[in-house]
Amino acid sequence: MPRTPNASRRCTRTTPRPAADRQPHAARRSHPVPSHPIPPPSTQQWAEELERRLGSPWDEESPLSLARGARLDEEERFPQEAIQSLHALGLPEFYIPTEYGGRFESYEQLLLLARLLARRDLTVTVSSSTLAWSTLTWLGGTDAQKRRQAAFLRAGHSPCLAYSEEAHGADLLSGATTARRVAGGYRITGEKWPINRATRGEGYMVLARTDPLGGPRGLSLFMLDKAQLEPGTHAPLPRVPTVGVRGCDISGVRFTDCLARDDDRLGPEGGGLELALKALHITRALCSGLALGAADTGLRTTLNLARGRRLYGDTVFAIPSVSRACADSFLDGLVADAVAQTVLRGVHVAPERFAAWSAIAKYFVPSLSERAFQRLTAVQGARFYMRDRHDWGAFQRFYRDNLLIGIFDGSAPVNLHSLGLQLRALCQGTLKGTGVPDLDARLENLFTLSQRVPPLDPQRLDLVARGPDEVFLGLPDAVQRLEGQVGHLDESHRGVLLALARCLIKEQGAHAQAVLQLATRAGRAFATSPELFDLARRYAVLFSAASCLHLWVRNARTQGGFFEAGAWLILALSRLLREAGSLDAPEPPPGLYDSLTSELVRRHDARQLFSLQPLQVA
Ligand SMILES: Cc1cc2nc3c(=O)[nH]c(=O)nc-3n(C[C@H](O)[C@H](O)[C@H](O)COP(=O)(O)OP(=O)(O)OC[C@H]3O[C@@H](n4cnc5c(N)ncnc54)[C@H](O)[C@@H]3O)c2cc1C
Repeated sequence: MPRTPNASRRCTRTTPRPAADRQPHAARRSHPVPSHPIPPPSTQQWAEELERRLGSPWDEESPLSLARGARLDEEERFPQEAIQSLHALGLPEFYIPTEYGGRFESYEQLLLLARLLARRDLTVTVSSSTLAWSTLTWLGGTDAQKRRQAAFLRAGHSPCLAYSEEAHGADLLSGATTARRVAGGYRITGEKWPINRATRGEGYMVLARTDPLGGPRGLSLFMLDKAQLEPGTHAPLPRVPTVGVRGCDISGVRFTDCLARDDDRLGPEGGGLELALKALHITRALCSGLALGAADTGLRTTLNLARGRRLYGDTVFAIPSVSRACADSFLDGLVADAVAQTVLRGVHVAPERFAAWSAIAKYFVPSLSERAFQRLTAVQGARFYMRDRHDWGAFQRFYRDNLLIGIFDGSAPVNLHSLGLQLRALCQGTLKGTGVPDLDARLENLFTLSQRVPPLDPQRLDLVARGPDEVFLGLPDAVQRLEGQVGHLDESHRGVLLALARCLIKEQGAHAQAVLQLATRAGRAFATSPELFDLARRYAVLFSAASCLHLWVRNARTQGGFFEAGAWLILALSRLLREAGSLDAPEPPPGLYDSLTSELVRRHDARQLFSLQPLQVA
């Protein structure tokens, strides 16, 4: 049963206490102290160390094992022990910037972390993902608030995000929760629902109306610590039974004249919506990590089945349609990885474009993982429908839980709409062909995976992306680089790859023209036109193809092996161009799937992630 800490207590209001009077977090409650936190090496090293510490998800003794996950899911039980073991490994430190004593350096790092946890258990990952809402404080808080946030997380506490309301869904501007001005602060009244960890979290990040008339400047954001709130002024709403992530605390909160002090407000009064959306852009992009991790386990457990089970005198995997389905799902994962890495590096390198890029990642990466799962159901066959067979029924659980990723933090239609609204300015800028004076340096930093990205500059984040899109503006340069780098490829592969890359430039130009034509034709109806969704979808697909190409030309030599051989790139470009509606994209030469299939089998045997850069997992 969820805790109901304040539901039955009497409401007693007091005058606000100054912040200095508040008790330090660590002294208030006993939480596991990170006794053996992971030491600070490179991202790749700590990721592999995390894997070693957590052990294989197939090992029943691991705190985040598939077996435990299945048991807790059946019992719809909150994974408290697993979360505590992550805290003991120092997980909160990865959400605290280095200048506040933590380990957070880049969102690329959090993407990998989300991926490694999600491949084990989405209930645990979704429950612990609320730590990422500290982003609101890092973006909009004062130095004192940032110190408070760091202490809160370090004490093992988690905030929840209280944006949504039952009556208003994605329409945040219509939110009815109010924050009424009183001496020294505000009184918050209203209900937020459905909220992940509303009951079990130790704090709230609340979006509330500070101007009764509402409007874009009528909302403010508050960071509230439950331990500091007056009893009886906030009460949990009942837990909502969900289709997947069945152990998660999906509930809500009712505020009744709940006092938020002035120093609980993040950013200026009326600046809440802007801050809320900027942070949402970051967290929605981070959802890519959840989809990548879930898809990895979906594919791994399917390979366990297909390579272990024998039919007709050979393995199931030997059936050509089965190995093709697995290879296609591997390809989906590689494309999704390219998009996710581009976007999460992009928030540091080109924050001006992030409002659009994050919508692309949130729409397309979960779509790709859903597609991969759907394809693999045919390989799983009857076992897909059984809850306790084959790897403790992991496939059906991850398939089901993965569906949530396309819904929360902005659903697929909401993200396509958000992207669509930015298309006109983006395409106008890209067609003009100028406007990024340091384009070469940006592309080099964005796509060279061995380069560190700069620290995030929140001042450069915007609610809408304007101007040219570097990823498309840099395409001619990428094609030129490609021409100089394909010498080692088989002649037929070389020709097709170059033709696909040139076709991508052509399709992107045609798409940009189509956007401007719709804008002229539809006039004021552009923003609500159903065609806008298709154009946004095509933009996301072409962006993904361009990301694959940029990543290849800047990393093939250093990555070598499967990455450099380029079969995956040819197959990815061919598939994505067709998906974008191209009639000119050449067919990939025969035999390319052999390379994909043998790499898939090699990674499965070697226990490496099905990612662009192979990473050792437990
Ligand atoms: C498990 C779970 C956990 C959640 N956790 C949290 C949380 O921690 N904090 C939080 O604040 N919220 C949370 N939510 C709420 C979530 O973010 C909701 O998706 C959000 O409130 C939108 O509401 P809705 O999906 O009900 O859609 P509504 O906003 O009611 O919209 C209904 C439908 O209209 C269409 N639509 C709406 N807007 C657009 C648009 N702009 N363009 C095109 N079509 C559109 C879509 O098809 C949409 O599905 C959670 C939800 C779930 C399921």
